[in-house]
Amino acid sequence: MKTIERTLQSTKRIALVAHDNQKPALLRWCDKNHEALSFHTLFGTGTTGSLLRKQGFDVHCLFSGPMGGDQQLGAMIAEGRIDMMIFFWDPLESMPHDPDVKALLRLATVWNIPVANNEATADFIVSSPYFNHEFTTTIPDYSGYLYDRTGNES
Ligand code: PGA
Repeated sequence: MKTIERTLQSTKRIALVAHDNQKPALLRWCDKNHEALSFHTLFGTGTTGSLLRKQGFDVHCLFSGPMGGDQQLGAMIAEGRIDMMIFFWDPLESMPHDPDVKALLRLATVWNIPVANNEATADFIVSSPYFNHEFTTTIPDYSGYLYDRTGNES
């Protein structure tokens, strides 16, 4: 597939998600990085997001993951409305919404957004110079398909 460039702005739209056993780790990580995160626009799946709100974060809450929140995030990634995702998923337990989790991770890869699935990677991301600066990357060039489908240029 052809690709085109996409520039992530210095202020990022960041998705925050954690499975239940990983929520304490994500909450700790967010607290540790409160100042760095406050510069960005935060989105969270329902339970993760509401826990973060209680800790003082300004988070836009979506549905709870198992109730469609993962799918909402996947759609937002495909539409270019999420720039980065911190998703501490649980590697030791299967989830009733495993297909949604897999779909979300798949779309994050398709659309080439930075993703952290554990604390070490999240630390790398937050300490990257790109975290607070523009970052140009490539995404699939989908414009031809959109033109064919709608008859209008996107
Ligand atoms: P939750 O969803 O934040 O509503 O618990 C997490 C998930 O996507 O599994």
